[in-house]
Amino acid sequence: MENGGLSRNQWRFRANEELTKASAITVRGVLNMLMGNLNGNDSRPVIPLGHGDPSPFPSFRTATSAVDALCSAIRSAKFDGYSSTVGIPAARSAVANYLSKDLPHKLSPDDVFLTIGCTQALEAVVTVLSRPKSNILLPRPGFPYYEARAGFSHLEVRHFDLVSEKGWEVDLDAVEGLSDENTVAMVIINPGNPCGNVFKYEHLKKIAETAKRLGILVISDEVYDHLTFGSSPFVPMGVFASIVPVITVGSISKRWIVPGWRLGWLVTNDPDGILMKQGIVDSIKGFLNISSDPATFSQGALSQILENTPSDFFEKIIDVLRECANVVYDRIKEIPCLTCPSKPEGSMFVMVKLNLPLLEGINDDLEFCRMLAEEESVIVLPGVAVGLKNWVRITFAVEPSYLDDGFRRIKAFHQRHAKKQ
Ligand SMILES: *Cc1c(COP(=O)(O)O)cnc(C)c1O
Repeated sequence: MENGGLSRNQWRFRANEELTKASAITVRGVLNMLMGNLNGNDSRPVIPLGHGDPSPFPSFRTATSAVDALCSAIRSAKFDGYSSTVGIPAARSAVANYLSKDLPHKLSPDDVFLTIGCTQALEAVVTVLSRPKSNILLPRPGFPYYEARAGFSHLEVRHFDLVSEKGWEVDLDAVEGLSDENTVAMVIINPGNPCGNVFKYEHLKKIAETAKRLGILVISDEVYDHLTFGSSPFVPMGVFASIVPVITVGSISKRWIVPGWRLGWLVTNDPDGILMKQGIVDSIKGFLNISSDPATFSQGALSQILENTPSDFFEKIIDVLRECANVVYDRIKEIPCLTCPSKPEGSMFVMVKLNLPLLEGINDDLEFCRMLAEEESVIVLPGVAVGLKNWVRITFAVEPSYLDDGFRRIKAFHQRHAKKQ
């Protein structure tokens, strides 16, 4: 019989449908849908306030020294081979030194595992913890990649709220209430995506004490480390590692604005050796043994990048982010259908509440975002994509001139759709 003549049931292969399911809720999936709703006849530029990648904008160009480091790593011909699965020694030691500057304990290079961006680091930690019946506590709103990854690994997810009235602090009573003997870890993202909040020292200490009481690990996503521009300084969760074991995940993607370079890390802050004793460290090594490694030349450039980036690069980026956050916060106040309960102090995002009763015929955040894309060519992320219905996440890390234009259009959109009194 000809192959083309086989019916669907006669072919022996089928796709793993869990992958199709797991990826449906990603930020990229929702943004692609919105991009499909743009009006091809609008000659104005699209204002992309949906995703967090400012690398195309002139104000956010990475440091020349970082580019030089990468080029000389390639030219040296020393990094053309495979790396070891945990990362090359010089890069591990550079990350240990970089992070130790803000910690009371000194990290060893053995505490550091190089990963393909922060994404592979969180993939590793979620996979390592995915034992049958276990559950993990995730923030709401949050970063949906955690939900997708946990779902794919059959790790049960339970959500605790971040409280908008309290500057998006963790609802610690909810954390206590949600956890049981099968809870293994809680995740925090600091500085926050999607809320732009920065946790204070005292709050982080309370998180550590709560986790300790529950016997669970804290996973701290610090991919926006040091991207703070308000009154709260960045404090790494590792500061509290003597209270509770902490796994920190991070990368150069956001602080150096090179998400395409795909270089990140997973770090165990474990002065009492608890993660080692529980088998977590060996399991992390096992995960890395059966997955791919970040490009060896980017690892080869890492010590130069972490040690020799001039401070004026960081200062300039922080100044631009602060200016952008101020502009967005002020413009939101002028648009009645938008409320921002908490001014962003870090990362690249702000969560904004929609006052839908003020609008005619717009029933939810998805509809709001779809119509805004179609009528004004402005892209913002519907809150449902990050777990908060009838909110939107706005990225302010774009060229400042885009923000003026974008908010003029959002204001026009509001006026056109406002209910007549
Ligand atoms: C961007 C982001 C990541 C992924 O970082 P990469 O280094 O690009 O893989 C992880 N967590 C959060 C909260 C992020 O915003």
